Amino acid sequence: MNNNEILNNINAWQSNTMLHLLTCGNDSKHTPLKGVEENGKVILLCIDCDYRQSNVPPTVTGQITSPLADNLGMTAGELTVFLRARDGVLHKLGDLKHKIDTFEPHPESKQDLSTMHHVSEQLDNILNCWYY
Ligand SMILES: [Zn+2]
Repeated sequence: MNNNEILNNINAWQSNTMLHLLTCGNDSKHTPLKGVEENGKVILLCIDCDYRQSNVPPTVTGQITSPLADNLGMTAGELTVFLRARDGVLHKLGDLKHKIDTFEPHPESKQDLSTMHHVSEQLDNILNCWYY
């Protein structure tokens, strides 16, 4: 992996709002650290106070490889975001199943046939991604 690829991965990480941004070691309120090339090596730089960090986590540079990320055609950073989103989906599905299983009423009404039609239609729309 060359320095340009590493810089692109750092840039993608630092502009992704779902990831934990790398921040300045002097003041975390400074602009998030920026990847720059210095003497042939990629480092992180604070553009507000010139703070420099020479060790860049391999998850951020994209240099960690994982069989799962490779299988899914993702970088390790993208896999991190994907798995977080996936956890959110699985949590919501569990919550939905529980609410239906227990006949949990809506705040203003009970579950009824139109609730089931609505849920079924939405689920069909989602499941169609796998069928077509
Ligand atoms: Zn700073």
